[in-house]
This record gives sequence, C-alpha cells and structure tokens, in this order.
Amino acid sequence: MNSFDELGLSAELLRAVSEQGYSQPTPIQAQAIPVILDGRDVMGAAQTGTGKTAGFTLPLLQRLSSLPSVRGPRPVRALVLTPTRELAAQVGDSVADYGKYLPLSSAVIFGGVNINPQTAALRRGVDILVATPGRLLDHANQRNVDLSKLDILVLDEADRMLDMGFIHDIRRVLKLLPAKRQNLLFSATFSDEIKALADGLLDQPVLVEVARRNTASEAVAQTIHPVDKNQKRQLLSYLIGANNWKQVLVFTRTKHGANRLAQQLEKDGLTAAAIHGNKSQGARTRALADFKSGKVRVLVATDIAARGLDIDQLPHVVNFELPNVPEDYVHRIGRTGRAGNVGEAVSLVCVDENKLLRDIEKLIKRELPKVVIAGFEPDPNAVPEPKEKPQARPPRRRLGEKPKTQGGERPSGEQNRRRRRRSKPKNPATQAA
Ligand code: AMP
Repeated sequence: MNSFDELGLSAELLRAVSEQGYSQPTPIQAQAIPVILDGRDVMGAAQTGTGKTAGFTLPLLQRLSSLPSVRGPRPVRALVLTPTRELAAQVGDSVADYGKYLPLSSAVIFGGVNINPQTAALRRGVDILVATPGRLLDHANQRNVDLSKLDILVLDEADRMLDMGFIHDIRRVLKLLPAKRQNLLFSATFSDEIKALADGLLDQPVLVEVARRNTASEAVAQTIHPVDKNQKRQLLSYLIGANNWKQVLVFTRTKHGANRLAQQLEKDGLTAAAIHGNKSQGARTRALADFKSGKVRVLVATDIAARGLDIDQLPHVVNFELPNVPEDYVHRIGRTGRAGNVGEAVSLVCVDENKLLRDIEKLIKRELPKVVIAGFEPDPNAVPEPKEKPQARPPRRRLGEKPKTQGGERPSGEQNRRRRRRSKPKNPATQAA
C-alpha cells in the first residue's frame, strides 16, 4: 500500500494526514484502516512507534463522521482507554490533529489534574473521549458521562493496562457500555491474560500485526559498558560530554533514583529533568516539553513514566540500571532508532546486574557487545551485593485476583489515591486536586 488515498479515507481526513507530512501509511495503518472502516473488531499487535494511533484514530473518526451528528449535550460515541496520562494526552492530540476538518468534538480525561474542567467539557458534549480508566470511573460515578450509546471502544496498550492493575477498572467500564459496539484492542504482547480479555471482548476479530520492532533491533546499536556501581553517574556524564550527546533518555529503576540522578547531572553541568509517577502532571508535561525543545538535555525516566511517550527519532537511550523485567529492556530501547533512523542504546552494568543482563540476552537471543571505557574499569574482584529483598516483578496476575504492586515504580499516584479514596469518605476539597 503506497498511499493513503487507497485506504478509503474521506477528503477531510486525507487533508489532515497530508498536513501532518505523512506521505504513505505505515504497515499497521495499511492493515488496520480498511478493516476498521468495515466495522470489524480488531486485535492489533503493535507497539508505540509503529503508527498505531493513526491506525485506529483515522478510521474511527471516519466512522463517527458518517453517522448523523447531534448538537448540544450528547452521549460519547467513541472511547479510547489508555494506561497512562501521557499516552492519553498524546492520543488526544492525534484525535484533534486528524479530526480538525470534521465536526466532531473530543476530550481527554486523566487523573492528577483538576476534575472540574473535564466535567465541564463532558457536559458540553463529547463525541470522542480519551481517558485513563480511574478518572473515567470517577466521572461515571458522578454521572458526568453517558457511555450507554457508545459505538466504538479502543483499548490502547492493553498489556500495560493489565500490568498496572487496571483490569478491575476496565471491567467496571465495560459494564457501562452497550453490548453492541465495535471493539479495537491494541497490545505489544499477548499473554494469556490479554487473550482472556480479548476473548470476552472481541467478536470475530481480525488480527492485524506488524513485526515486533526491536526484537531484532537492527536499527539500534546496543552496547554494554561494564562499570562499578559507584562510578555509573561519572561515566554517564563523561559519555554525554565526550560524545556530545544532545538529547539523552536515561532509565532508572526507581522514582527516587530518577530524582537523585537528575540532580547529580545538574551538578555536573548538564541540564536534566526527571519524569515519573510521583511528579505532578504539570511537571511531567513541562519536563517532556523542555526535553523535546532541547532546553533539557537529559531526561531521566522510570519505565512506567516513559511508557507511551512519543519522542521522535531519539538518538540515545541509556540504561543507567537494567530493568528487572527483560521485556522492559526491549521497550526501553524501542525509544531510539525509530522510523528508519539508527539509534544507540547504552547500558551501564555493574556486577550486581550480570544476572539481569543474561536474562535480557536470552530474551533477545544475542549476546551484547561489552566495552570497558578507559578510566572506568570495573573492579575485577567485585562480587554481587547480597539482595535484601527480591526485586523481580511478581508473576502476572490472573483475572479476578487482587492487584499487587510491582517492583521498582508502582503503577501511579492516581491508582493509589483512588484506592485510598475508596476506603475513606470523599472530601470534595481533595478530590479536585
Ligand atoms: P504511534 O505508534 O502511533 O505512537 O506513532 C509514532 C509516530 O509516528 C508518531 O510521531 C506519528 O506522528 C508518526 N506517524 C504515524 N503515522 C505516520 C506515517 N504514516 N508516516 C510518518 N509518520 C507517521
């Protein structure tokens, strides 16, 4: 498929697409758009970076615009659920960009920000709603939103939603929807849990699939720098300076580690910001904007915060610490080498992390090159520190089990706040914060 014209999209959408500068559809778009336009349910195997957002947003907009539009307060017709606030904001931007020539309205709702403007938007009437599950349920409980006439449901990054313990919230949302609707489910991985969710949700789905990016990782040069733990920060500053890296995304395992590292890098004279679930929405948005504009050179992120961030053509990703879960390594380095650009992923690995490294190499089925940097040679006699408590993420939950927190960063402040809120009487003053 060489052109968007052949996909059956309306002139309004083609115009918006061409203004985005897209000359041809990505493989996931070429597969998904005609099927969704046909009204079929879709199970999409695609990660961020494949163009999946336009893959479901464009046909969704076209389907809604072909139905008669209603003025004033009206029920929501399409709902996109996302795991994180950042992804919700990005999908919301895409809906607004692609739908700019159509008479449809959209809104984005997520936790961590004042609920009142969201309520006002919902009351004005919204055709397409992009939401994180928790805040959506808050609005549903307050009867701010009517989902009973929904035409299309999209679950974006469904695997992450389950990882973050949203299955119960998703099930609650599903109960608010009409039985007859079109369902689109996108996920980077297909665990038994995802398959169980899909089985209950999708009606004779068409499977659309693109080769998993970065399992082969041809576009990403990956290097391991063995180093002592207490030399990692100095090595990172050295690599950034010596190689003159202008835009670096650095992963740490914990929120605390992200904050501390960003502060230390600032002391080394590098502009740095941390992004993680404890930061206010404003601070996260600002950090991301500063990073994109080049005002901040180093963005330090935890896995959950970085998930779904749309940062194009990122040249350098650094694993300051290896992730506990090997799959997260693949997600992390998926931030670089996008859209045909060659990227570089560097991992600073101390003796404690050798086991994690072996697990990663097993997963990606190749041994990664190890390069010791002169002046940062690791102590040959170092032995792994005994662990105080196991760090590994607990096994994936089965449907119906209670949510458990995971190693490293916890799901999000939003979930924790909601759990607390449910267990105590509501206080309107804290609700809106
Ligand atoms: P996504 O996988 O939806 O997060 O999209 C990843 C990036 O690809 C986004 O920055 C999109 O703007 C961009 N993109 C989506 N579709 C196309 C296309 N057909 N051509 C070029 N870039 C695209």
